[in-house]
Order: sequence, then C-alpha cells, then structure tokens
Amino acid sequence: MLDALRTIEEEFRAAIDEAGADPERVEAVRVRFLGRKSPLTALMKQLGKLSAEERPAAGQAINQLKKSIQQSIEEAVEKAAAGALEQELQDSSVDVTLPPRSPWRGSQHPVHATRRELERIFRDLGYTIETGPEVEDDFHNFQALNLPPEHPARDAQDTFYLEGDRLLRTHTSPVQIRTMESRRPPIRMVCPGRVYRRDHDATHLPMFHQLEALVVDKGISMAHLKGTMDRVWKTFYGEQVKTRLRPAYFPFVEPGAEYDISCQVCGGEGCRVCKQTGWIELGGAGMVHPAVFEAVGIDPDVYSGWAFGLGIDRIAMMRHGIDDLRLLVENDVRFLSQFPT
Ligand SMILES: [Zn+2]
Repeated sequence: MLDALRTIEEEFRAAIDEAGADPERVEAVRVRFLGRKSPLTALMKQLGKLSAEERPAAGQAINQLKKSIQQSIEEAVEKAAAGALEQELQDSSVDVTLPPRSPWRGSQHPVHATRRELERIFRDLGYTIETGPEVEDDFHNFQALNLPPEHPARDAQDTFYLEGDRLLRTHTSPVQIRTMESRRPPIRMVCPGRVYRRDHDATHLPMFHQLEALVVDKGISMAHLKGTMDRVWKTFYGEQVKTRLRPAYFPFVEPGAEYDISCQVCGGEGCRVCKQTGWIELGGAGMVHPAVFEAVGIDPDVYSGWAFGLGIDRIAMMRHGIDDLRLLVENDVRFLSQFPT
C-alpha cells in the first residue's frame, strides 16, 4: 500500500511539473489524481480488504497524500492565473502610457459668441441685460416709438403681421418701451434678441439679431452717446477704432444719426469691404424723442436719454471675415467647428 502511494506521488510530481503554468494541463492533472477514477480513489476502495490493525494507518497515509496533492494543485492554479494575466498584458497592443483622447467638444455659434461678448462689455459698464417677447403688439413695436398707424416710416419695416394687432417684432426697441414702462430713471440697459422682417435677399435674412442700448437720466446728452460708443467699440475691436455720427432720420429719436466705425479690414485707408470710404456703417442712434418718453410716462422736460442699435450678425461676420450670410443659419458643423469657444 505504501509503495503504491509513493508511486502515485512520484507520478503526480512529474505530471504537475510538466503542466507548468498552463491552466488546461493543470486541470487535467487535477482530474487524473483527484477525480473519481483516480488511483487514490481506487486505493480507498481497497481499504476494506485490509485488516483492522492496518486500516487506520493506511487511511491516514492516503488522506495525507490527497491533501498534499490538493495543495500543490491550488498553487499551480494560482501560478497559472498570474501567468495568464502577464501573458495578456504582453500580447495586448494597448499602450497604457499614451495620453487619453480628448472628448469631442461643441462650440458657440459665432452670432451667439458675439452677442455674449457685447453683453459682457455693457455689463462691465453697469448696464442691465433686458429681454422681451418676440410676438409683439402694435403699441410696443410702433405707436410708443412715435410711429402712429399712418406713419410712412412703417413701410420701411416690412412687418410680419399675425392675427389681431399682433406682429413679429421688427426691432428690439419694444424692449426699451417695456423697460421704461416698468422702471423709473436712471435706466442703463441693453436688449439683445431676434427680430423679423419680410425683406430677405443675398444680404438680408427674414430673422436676424439686434442689440440696442438705452440710457435715460437727468442731463444725458449726445456727448454721452458718442463717448459710450467709442468705449464699446474700442473694447470690442481694439483701441485703434474710430467712431463717427452722421445726421439721419428715425421717428423715435431727435436728433437722429447713423453711426460708422473705421473699417477694420483696411484700417481706414479704403478697401473693397468699406467701398473705399474707410468707414463701415453699424446702425442708428440718437436722442430719445420726447413723444417716446410721453408714451411711457417719463417727463421729457426732466429726463433725457440716448439709444443706439446694431446688427449682431453683421458684426460677427465682419469680425470673422464671413462673406456669406447663409452660413450663419445652415448649421453646418464643418463651418461652426471653426469657431472654438
Ligand atoms: Zn476698408
């Protein structure tokens, strides 16, 4: 019996050494020496044939060898698992020292980014940012701005009319009216937002973005308007920018003006963009008409104010050298991704 056990142990040592760190071969060795058909199981069955004196020692010897084999196999299984991991890391083509791929990031639309920057400049100057409805009534869009029903200047606005006296606002000026209705001077505000007009061609869209600034207080003059414009455009484009006012007529201001800035493409020398004049027209401006103050219940004998407006789309296009208006509304990612935030 002891000879048989010694033979089994020798065979097992040889087999487990040969199996090495190969998990499948270790498993085969386990089945061969601990399975139901193993030589140890066969010896156990023969215990009954031994005498009562021999039986306990033989049983103990078998169990000892069984435990020894179990332990060796557990060790071999652990070794095999560690070896497999090592092998996998060596075979793998992943270089864990490479920096990670950065996630895809969106960007702000150039019109939105321009609007945000203008808002920031005005906010730094102490202005509030005001918004209002895009579906307006006739009073806020026209009448309160000194444009009574038969006024010829209404024709210039190409309005989208809705049911009743509703319409799509043609400018952001109704937000000025609503702010003056609800607040008393001093008022320093800007109102950015979408506006709508029926004229659209190569250089106009039926929907575009305006920003208007309004200041109302005692003793406000045209000089404050000019000074504020200078500051805003110098902050936006740089200290080299010059601004100028030209007399013009708008029903809601008196006196009224159009204003220009020196061409940022040629620096004022004259080029194709500025049609050789050295100046680019940006929008309308002027001192708030007394009739507008009366419409919102502010005494024009006590208070005065100025306002000016601009087209955000136009400024975004000039800033980035965009020459086709349609690019702004096509939402082509190839175009938009050129303006990283
Ligand atoms: Zn120019």
